[in-house]
Amino acid sequence: MHIHTKYLILLLVLFTSCKSPKSSSSENSPNIIFIFADDLGYGDLSSYGAKDISTPNIDFIAENGIKFTDFYSVSSVCTPSRAGMLTGRLPQRFGLNGVLFPDSHTGMPSSEYTIAELLKDNNYRTGMVGKWHLGHKHEYLPLQQGFDFFFGIPYSNDMASTVYFRGNNVIDHFPDQSLMTKKLTDEALKFIELNSKNQFYLYVAHPMPHVPIYASEDFIGTSKRGLYGDVIQELDWSVGKILNKLDEMKLLENTMVIFSSDNGPWLTMKEMGGSSGGLRNGKMYTFEGGMRVPTLAMYKGLIPVGIETNEIASQLDWFPTFASITNSEIPENMILDGLDIREILKGNSFGFERDYLFFDYEKLEAYRKGDWKIKLPYQGWPGSWYKSPIDAHDTLLFNLSEDPGEKNNIFEYNKVLARKLADSMIKKYDDMGELPNSIVIRTDADESHLRELNIEK
Ligand code: MG
Repeated sequence: MHIHTKYLILLLVLFTSCKSPKSSSSENSPNIIFIFADDLGYGDLSSYGAKDISTPNIDFIAENGIKFTDFYSVSSVCTPSRAGMLTGRLPQRFGLNGVLFPDSHTGMPSSEYTIAELLKDNNYRTGMVGKWHLGHKHEYLPLQQGFDFFFGIPYSNDMASTVYFRGNNVIDHFPDQSLMTKKLTDEALKFIELNSKNQFYLYVAHPMPHVPIYASEDFIGTSKRGLYGDVIQELDWSVGKILNKLDEMKLLENTMVIFSSDNGPWLTMKEMGGSSGGLRNGKMYTFEGGMRVPTLAMYKGLIPVGIETNEIASQLDWFPTFASITNSEIPENMILDGLDIREILKGNSFGFERDYLFFDYEKLEAYRKGDWKIKLPYQGWPGSWYKSPIDAHDTLLFNLSEDPGEKNNIFEYNKVLARKLADSMIKKYDDMGELPNSIVIRTDADESHLRELNIEK
């Protein structure tokens, strides 16, 4: 009996110490709350120059932390943007390079290791509230990707059957979208309350302001930019509720709060879509308007008050950065595309010219290095209800520090520089190795369901 107990204790010790020898959250490791808006443009917050929308609570994050001017999304559309943010990896590496629809039966592979898994393995409680959009079948849902808690919707709010999930189950087939921001905020506050005594990571992915947009009665008519502005002001209210809750629970100082957007504004939706704030184009394009997103972060233990950075940063950076500030161990052979931006958050610079690849589905479209951005030739698009028209163009070259609106193509006069940029772009792309085929499958379009059943058409 005694021997058995001894062995049991020994085994327990071995098991605990083998599991993750280097991961150890301490009392100082912060909670993390990552708030994502959907299709919010670069010109839609007062801290980013909006005069007709008032966002004091979101701006509070920058006033007490850092504002990024040159922060990039991973993609100009929802699914790959979210996949890249949660994994720190370009989603082209695992084929999730486009938008999933209700008829897609694929999702982010479970072999991908998410921020939620990283932090859960380091004893954080992990919660998600809001829009998932990384696969709605059971095996792809948040609970199977490292989240202890999920309340929200499976994909975009304009797609068939917007339903509420709690955990792995649909609990409401007809949610009232005008109350969605409120409902999700309530769920977020409850999660914070329940986890005030332990470390937690909370991912709040608002379905707003993705079209169709809705605000609750309390916010209708409150902004100077119609319903779109009202929706953003309700998101701002939501951020205020979260900050107040943290304050009330004495968690404000030890929580890193981030606010960002998954991609640029949906311009064909006109006044129902957002503003790119003078950047070129919007959602579905790799011009700055589609890719550059407003991003603010605060965390008293690390980020000085009221700083601004123009260093190039990206949603890909959160994975390694969270690992660094929570002392969580990144699996040894994991290939990451993001960088640890802890020094940038402290107000320092990289000390080298950072570069960045811009993809549309599997296609490499553009590359930025330092101030320069090169854009590969494009065949043009006539325009449709969902995607703005664009003329065909040859190679473009911009100096983004002088010309963030990408108005002035200087390719003709800088071909040597363009060649150099193209060379380093190709090298970075080639270093990714062979990329897998897209796993974004639309069953209505390609009849893959017939192939799966081995039925000849
Ligand atoms: Mg989006």
